Amino acid sequence: MRGLGRIVSAGVRALVAVLAILFVFLQVSDDSSRPSMSAVAAGDPPVATATRVGGDGRRTRFVADVTQPLGFSVYVIPDPFRVIIDLPEVDFELPAGIGQQGRGLIDSYRYGRFAPGKSRIVLDANAPVLIEKSYVVKAENGQPARLVVDLIRTDRVTFAKIHDRVERAMRAAKAAEEGKPETVAAAAGAGDGAPDAAGEEREETRQAALEPVPGEPEPLPVSGADGEGASPRDPAPLPKPRPVVADASDASDAGDTAGTPPEPEEGGGEERAGDPAPAGDAPQAGEEATVAAAGSEDGSVSEDAARELERVMGALSSPPPLPPAKPHRDIPDRRVVVIDPGHGGVDPGAISRSGTYEKKVVLAFAKALRDKLAASGHYKVLMTRDDDTFVRLGDRVKFARRNHADLFIAIHADSLRSGKARGATIYTVSERASDREAAELAAKENRADLIAGVDLVEENEEVTGILLDLAQRETKNHSVYFAKTLISEMKAKTRMHSRPHRYAGFRVLRAPDVPSVLVELGYLSSRADEKLLLSAQWRARVASAMTKAVDAFFGIKVAANR
Ligand SMILES: [Zn+2]
Repeated sequence: MRGLGRIVSAGVRALVAVLAILFVFLQVSDDSSRPSMSAVAAGDPPVATATRVGGDGRRTRFVADVTQPLGFSVYVIPDPFRVIIDLPEVDFELPAGIGQQGRGLIDSYRYGRFAPGKSRIVLDANAPVLIEKSYVVKAENGQPARLVVDLIRTDRVTFAKIHDRVERAMRAAKAAEEGKPETVAAAAGAGDGAPDAAGEEREETRQAALEPVPGEPEPLPVSGADGEGASPRDPAPLPKPRPVVADASDASDAGDTAGTPPEPEEGGGEERAGDPAPAGDAPQAGEEATVAAAGSEDGSVSEDAARELERVMGALSSPPPLPPAKPHRDIPDRRVVVIDPGHGGVDPGAISRSGTYEKKVVLAFAKALRDKLAASGHYKVLMTRDDDTFVRLGDRVKFARRNHADLFIAIHADSLRSGKARGATIYTVSERASDREAAELAAKENRADLIAGVDLVEENEEVTGILLDLAQRETKNHSVYFAKTLISEMKAKTRMHSRPHRYAGFRVLRAPDVPSVLVELGYLSSRADEKLLLSAQWRARVASAMTKAVDAFFGIKVAANR
């Protein structure tokens, strides 16, 4: 997470950033911005056992059944409008493909891990929305605990107006936060699941989390028990900050629908019964105030930049041959290969009709490739993720550069709405895409951060200017060389797309100094490809072919029959 202060100080970008970040940072179950995430580590995480959406185009309710009450924060970000529900670590035991169909103001939604110890639900709104209310209901009367978020439609003008107020409030909060550096530090540490020193705060947090729940929760048709319209007039007491919500109900759009909260029902009947909530022991974790408490991830940027320039200039004076030989390695005889399984956590990537998730098949493949490469003994193999966690696009690139990668291989599996496209494609970076489909694919893959509800402040460019361009050109040549090597090895072992090498502006391929390719293993929209992607034998076969290509790229001679 990026500190608000840093964003604001980023000059012109600040405007974009602020707009992008917290239009309506409405409701936090934890009324302080104090992080208490790590409390989760003490027990089993809550399990989300069912989700559903109800309502119409004016008001829509999202409900998640959970095995224990939990802290959360919820806010809206625009362009496109998304509702972000930040949670402590939650296991999602939900039917495959749920979330692809929304209702009312919610087109679709997704969920998953966002970072260690943190989970997130992202609701895709089809219009400007405000959070009317949000709360957690305790398990009661045979119904599981529920997280409820009520959305109300608004218009852009109202949304913008509210934003100004929220922004001011956030700045004030940030200023206050800066007076408590240890809290900020703790917030930064919370992402690593570091133990919470202030254990006594947990109970308080829990109280805060449960406070909004009235004695008489709104009836929710969890198992078809409830009929229509039994909603109480008096909404649940609101978590802070209240004023924004008051604004929300002032929205002209919303005024005439007041008092008719939507009743979720979709999918309600077929849900599994929730696991019985583990009694009592649930350590409660309020999510930290997502923006205000976020720590800066500043490293030694300028130092890196200086080193980078040095390296770039060195590269210019004596262009490296193909394959590239890099200076200053710690282990000179072992090349560093970074494998980047696409998507993860809250970002599922493509989803096949039968419910196969891109994030899963690409991780499985990446592991197979890692094992083959590592078994050769020639490489130090690193992965940008090795579990179901979301990783920002910029962080994937940074990871490769920080580890002095000699080669970066991103793994994906595409999906097309129409057409019978099949086979693997290797992409290398280019400002100009080689064709429309390539351009669209890059645009789709580049949306990963957006999909996960990450603010879209540009990553700090560490090096800019013409030197970078020239270095990139050299790197690109290496990337293209590797892509061609890869294709010639892979085509012997699996089906390739009719144009197997294409170009587009993928963000993960933009490290100026690391030869990088993005492999689309196949199409999840093709049944045949999907079958291959799910086959361990196919993965092993293709991973072997790719290992041969990596060997060839680095000029490593291996026994012919390997
Ligand atoms: Zn992908």
